[in-house]
Amino acid sequence: MALTNPCAHVFRMIKTDNTFIQWTCRVCHCGPFWFIWECRYCRFHTCRDCIEKGT
Ligand SMILES: [Zn+2]
Ligand SMILES: [Zn+2]
Repeated sequence: MALTNPCAHVFRMIKTDNTFIQWTCRVCHCGPFWFIWECRYCRFHTCRDCIEKGT
């Protein structure tokens, strides 16, 4: 991955009904969650609190 241009994140909430799949927020490292907000372009994972803080 040599891309250096910043991604204009577009987040969508994803969640799992599979208890083996969980995610951790990449910004504040809280979690794991069974739901997360994922950028549809770069697949960056963040929690809702971090989105609202303007990540
Ligand atoms: Zn992104
Ligand atoms: Zn977070």
